[in-house]
Order: sequence, then structure tokens, then C-alpha cells
Amino acid sequence: MNIAIDGPAGAGKSTIARLAAKELGFIYVDTGAMYRAIALYLLDNKTDIYDETALKNALDNIHINIVYEAGVQHVFLDLQDVSTEIRSEKVGNMASTSSALPPVREKLLDLQRDIAAKNDVIMDGRDIGTNILPNAELKIYLTASVDVRAKRRYEELKLKGENPDLEEIKKGIETRDYQDMNRDIAPLKQADDAVYIDSSDLTIAEVVDKIIDLAKNK
Ligand code: C5P
Repeated sequence: MNIAIDGPAGAGKSTIARLAAKELGFIYVDTGAMYRAIALYLLDNKTDIYDETALKNALDNIHINIVYEAGVQHVFLDLQDVSTEIRSEKVGNMASTSSALPPVREKLLDLQRDIAAKNDVIMDGRDIGTNILPNAELKIYLTASVDVRAKRRYEELKLKGENPDLEEIKKGIETRDYQDMNRDIAPLKQADDAVYIDSSDLTIAEVVDKIIDLAKNK
């Protein structure tokens, strides 16, 4: 079975998908992490992403491996586990910019479809229900207000010992929403057959329960 969860940055997709996957015995596939791994490489190598040849060469050199250890996804660039490094705001913002480029999306399409074909998955991202897995048995569009999403990200970063600026985070989220929803290729939008869930006033457990119920009814 394939479950697709799409929605904007900070809607709680990864936390919720991870918990629901655990309860259902599915694999949780975080596609954002794959875009982040590419972004990390492009940043580290100072690739001019608007130079077609430079981008092509960089993408040819990027070897992403996805490994599941006790249900937890690890992303490798060649032999290096970059799962922690890719979580920064800088990498997230670069991922939002570089994911709008067709060659970047093309590189990840087969990898994502292949994992879904071989496993029961909950896959989260931006275009899973609309583009990657159009035949997913269950599709969810999970969102929350910009203020709630910014506040959640702020708390997350504070817990990590960082010193975040709420306004800056809010601006970053708004920019990413705009870029993700307005790009030409595979923009973020709700699939026609997706269930819409606004998590602004729901607890994590409430959203997880809702998704489990929907999955069990399929
Ligand atoms: O979900 P996460 O914040 O990790 O994603 C980082 C960026 O990767 C997003 O802002 C989006 O631009 C891009 N992305 C995408 N398609 C996906 C998953 C992520 O374009 N399926």
C-alpha cells in the first residue's frame, strides 16, 4: 500500500508520517531529505545551478543512497551519512530553490517510485500525490497556518540549542511556500482525491489517529 502526504514546510508531515508508519508497520520515506542531500552537495561544491552544464555535471556526480535502519531513513551522499547535516535552514532554502529545476526532479523520480513499488510506504513531500504516486491508495494534504508552522519550527530549533529568530523563520517559510507552489514543474498543490487536514489546532496524536483510520478504511 502507498500513502502520500503532501503539504508545505513545517506542517508536521515528517513527525506525523513517521509515527503513522510505525503504527502501520510501513516504511516512512522522506523525499524532502533527498532534495536536501542534493542541495547540500550543490552548496558544498559551490555549483552554479543556473549553468546547465555545471548542474548536469554535479548531478552526474551525486550518488544518493537511502538506507533504512530500524525503520529510520538515512540519506547517504556516496558513503557519507548526511542525515543530520541536511536539516539546517540554509540547506532547506537551497533545496527549495534547486528542487524547481527539472534535472533535479528527474534525478529523484525513479528512486522514489522504485521504493514505493517495493514496499508499503508513507511517502511525504510536495508532489507525491499529484506526480510521483498518482495511484496511491490514500492521499493526504497536510497543512497549517504560517504562524503555527513558524512557531513549531522555532521551538524545534530552540530545543536543538540554537538561537532562532521567529520573524526570520516566518519569512523563510513564506518564501519557500511561494517557491514550492509557483514553480513550473510539479508545484505543491492538493491532489483532487487527497484528504485535506489542517493541523493548526490539532495535536500530533489526533492527526496520526485520523490518518490511521483513513488507512484502515482503504
Ligand atoms: O520537506 P522539506 O522541508 O525537507 O523539503 C525541502 C524542500 O525540498 C522543499 O521546500 C521543496 O522545495 C523540496 N521538495 C520538493 N518535492 C518533494 C519534497 C521536497 O520539491 N517531494
